[in-house]
Amino acid sequence: MMLSAHFSLEELTASEVAVRAGIGNAPPPELMSNLVHLAESLELVRTALVNNAVHVTSGYRSPRLNQMVGGSKHSMHMQGLAADILCPAFGPPLEVCRAIARSKVPADEIIHEFGQWCHVAFPPPGQLARHELLTIRDAAIGAELGLRTV
Ligand SMILES: [Zn+2]
Repeated sequence: MMLSAHFSLEELTASEVAVRAGIGNAPPPELMSNLVHLAESLELVRTALVNNAVHVTSGYRSPRLNQMVGGSKHSMHMQGLAADILCPAFGPPLEVCRAIARSKVPADEIIHEFGQWCHVAFPPPGQLARHELLTIRDAAIGAELGLRTV
């Protein structure tokens, strides 16, 4: 089911980890509006990345899945408001993060994670975006301020 022009519910809930573990990752009905908001926000990201295809490697996570993948306790992935993305046609993850940060996309937080992907989260509908920019290079150290090379 398409949630926006380029993003489907299937893409925003797919998880190889969940499949391998045999656990479901279907979002509860009350989070569907957040997932539509996420898809619409990712359209803005796609535009900011000059309409290159954006691949979502992790979108919605059930609490159990979030725990399995080592996500933070308050991860916005569990609210259906965050996505880990790649856009190889545009550039490496750090360039993707920087381009979104430079754009007018109302991102709540943009995190360059382990040099491998861009985590982008959006505020719940109706709330202001904080535009927080962070880098995680080492899970033990946690998030550092700014978008940095790792
Ligand atoms: Zn993430």
